[in-house]
Order: sequence, then structure tokens, then C-alpha cells
Amino acid sequence: MTFGEDLLDDFFRTDPAGAPALRRASRLWSDQMVRIGDLKPVHLGGKYGYSMARVTMLQVLTERAEQLGVDLRFGSNVTGRDEIDADVVVATDGVGSRLRTARAGHFGTTVEPGENRYVWLGTDRCVDVFTFAFERTDAGWIWFYAYPSADGASTCIVECAPETWTGLGLDSVPAADGLRMLESIFADALGGHRLLAPAGGDGAGELPWLRFREVRNRTWRDDDLVLAGDAAHTTHFGIGSGTVLAVQDGVALADALYATHDGRATAQGRIAALSAYDARRRARLGPIQDMARRNMRWFERAGERLERGEDPVEFSWALLDRRGDMGRLHYRLHRATQIGPVRQVRRTLTSARRVRRAAQRGERGAIG
Ligand SMILES: Cc1cc2nc3c(=O)[nH]c(=O)nc-3n(C[C@H](O)[C@H](O)[C@H](O)COP(=O)(O)OP(=O)(O)OC[C@H]3O[C@@H](n4cnc5c(N)ncnc54)[C@H](O)[C@@H]3O)c2cc1C
Repeated sequence: MTFGEDLLDDFFRTDPAGAPALRRASRLWSDQMVRIGDLKPVHLGGKYGYSMARVTMLQVLTERAEQLGVDLRFGSNVTGRDEIDADVVVATDGVGSRLRTARAGHFGTTVEPGENRYVWLGTDRCVDVFTFAFERTDAGWIWFYAYPSADGASTCIVECAPETWTGLGLDSVPAADGLRMLESIFADALGGHRLLAPAGGDGAGELPWLRFREVRNRTWRDDDLVLAGDAAHTTHFGIGSGTVLAVQDGVALADALYATHDGRATAQGRIAALSAYDARRRARLGPIQDMARRNMRWFERAGERLERGEDPVEFSWALLDRRGDMGRLHYRLHRATQIGPVRQVRRTLTSARRVRRAAQRGERGAIG
């Protein structure tokens, strides 16, 4: 998963003792690059971020919870509120939340699928720059987003329109053949490296292709149960924010519960705190989900743009500004960034900005 400064700021603010372990386990990547077939790559300057294998983040957070004396229990299949003996239940059981679907009418859940198909893979190519790579095939355009995630490996999410997916036969070939086909399509962008399926998924079965599902809920609270994370809201992976938003839900919920002594001590106080969390976070997520949907739609139309033969620098600008909130100055900077020395200056300035922000949140010695 990738994340930006906002997640580190949140961790250092809310758990200064535990946050350095998370920072040490994360990888910094600077720059983003867009490759379209064998055309000259385009640079998206001033961009950087962090990434981490999901399993690593879970390990770091688990260790921290144990240090704090949290009673962690794994491997239970929770299907209803009544199975849990607790004052407050936080349903963070993901996009298909059973606790939510058991009361879907109450929560007013809507689930809207995206059009494109995607599959979440790895590659043994170590990319040090977040890379978008678009390739033209006989069945249409297909692309990946790749970023570093672990020693000797990177994450590689492959996405395409449904016609391309079926046209290439990716909907029906065994996983091993699908991987070889994608390796061949992306041979240049991967530098001849291999693609890796999720654990145990490279055999005779099919690759786990999915459609993104946008989940929204009219309310996130049902008495003493609240939704958080993907159970409450999903945002297209193109904005890389789902985990960050889930963590921020947790912070907001704790803030609401700890705001008053009463918020924790009495059932009435707890319900008031949960209602406050619901109202505040839902209002905050609405515009973010709208922006994420614009991002998803942009990728659903990316093939049309590419088919028109749009200039790569212009196409990459449209990709950079897919949320529609950047101005002319950014556009001019984007064009200038294609010149090597200008890019270098931007990189130096971005790096200085990053180090200052790290110092502001109390991070010491974590430069790389
Ligand atoms: C392709 C892709 C790329 C993404 N990339 C990024 C990224 O770069 N950065 C980012 O911030 N986000 C990213 N996201 C989003 C991110 O993965 C999710 O938003 C995040 O994992 C949500 O966390 P969660 O804890 O709410 O749900 P989940 O991570 O789905 O966790 C739900 C947990 O609940 C457990 N569970 C489910 N049902 C039950 C049950 N009945 N009983 C007990 N336990 C149960 C599951 O085992 C799981 O551990 C991406 C998503 C996709 C699809």
C-alpha cells in the first residue's frame, strides 16, 4: 500500500512512541513516471510518497497493540453484533462487511461497481519510482501502477476495460497463462522481470480479477455499533487512500470517545460520541468519495484518450490533474519538469520540503 505524509502526521500526533517503528518499516519513493508503450517516459515532478507491504503494516500495528496491552484475538468469524460482548463494536470487516450487510437496510448501503477489471499482483522488479505503464494490445489498452513494497519486490496493479479483459481472454485463462501473457505485454515496462500472483494463486485457477466496488452508507451507526474503514466507505485505489482513511476513522472515533469523560463512562455518553463520530466523518468522506469517483471514471476513459493519440505529456498532465484541482502554474511546471535540470531542482526542493515536514512532526534521523 502507498501513503502520504498525512498518515505519518496522524501516527506521530496520536502515538508518538509507536510511530517511529511504522516510519522505519516504510519505503520512500520519489517521483512518478508515465510510460506509454515505447514512447519517451513522462515525469510527474514534485511527487513522492511512502509504501509498505500490507503484511508489514499489520505486523507493526499488531506489535504496538501488544505493547499497549490490547487483547488481540485472531481467526474468529464474526457474523453478528450479538456474538460480541463489548460496550462499543467497531465494524472494520472490510468492503463486504458481514456486520453491515446483516443490517443493510438500516445503514442504507449502496454498492456501485466500477466498469474496469483489475488484479493486484507483485513483480520481482524493484521499481524505485511510482510507475504508470500503458500498453496497447489488439483488444485495447491495458496498464499497471507499480510501486516498491518489499525487499526485492514491488506491487503491480494491472487494470483494463472489460472489453480488453475478455478480448485478451484474461477472463478465462488459467492464472499461470494469464501471468505469462501480462509479462509479455509489459515486457519493456517490467524490464523482462516476472509478475507474481497473490500467495498460491499462480496455478490452474484463474487470477483474482475484481471490479472496484464503491460503498457508501446513509448512516455509519446502529445503536452501539459503528462502521469504519472499507465497511463504511471505499475510495478507488487510484487515489491510494483507503488505508489512510480507515486509520483516520479510528483516530476520529477515539477523539469522539475521549472528548468527554462521560463519552466513555455511560451508555448515553457513548451513543452521543458515536453519533458525533458518524456525523463528522461521514460529512468529511462525502467529497473525498466524489473525488475518488472522478478518478475512477478518468481511468475508465483512459483508453479512449490514448486511442486518440494524445501527446504523452498532455495525457500525463490529464492523469496528474484527474481530480481536476490543479491550476495553470502546475501545468507549466509539469511541462518544465520534462527538462532534466529543472526536474533535478524540483526533486531537491521536494526533498527539502519532505525533510522539513518530517522534522515538524518530530521524526528524527529518518531521511531515506
Ligand atoms: C487494488 C487496491 C489497491 C489499493 N491500494 C491502496 C494504497 O496504495 N493505499 C491505501 O491507503 N489504500 C489502498 N487500497 C485500499 C485499502 O486496501 C483498503 O481501503 C483498506 O485495506 C481498508 O482497511 P479495512 O481495515 O477497512 O478493511 P480490510 O483491509 O479489508 O480488512 C478487513 C478485515 O476484516 C476481516 N474480516 C472480514 N470479515 C470478517 C468476519 N466475518 N469476521 C472476522 N473478521 C472478518 C478480514 O479478514 C480483514 O482482516 C487499495 C485497495 C485496492 C483494492
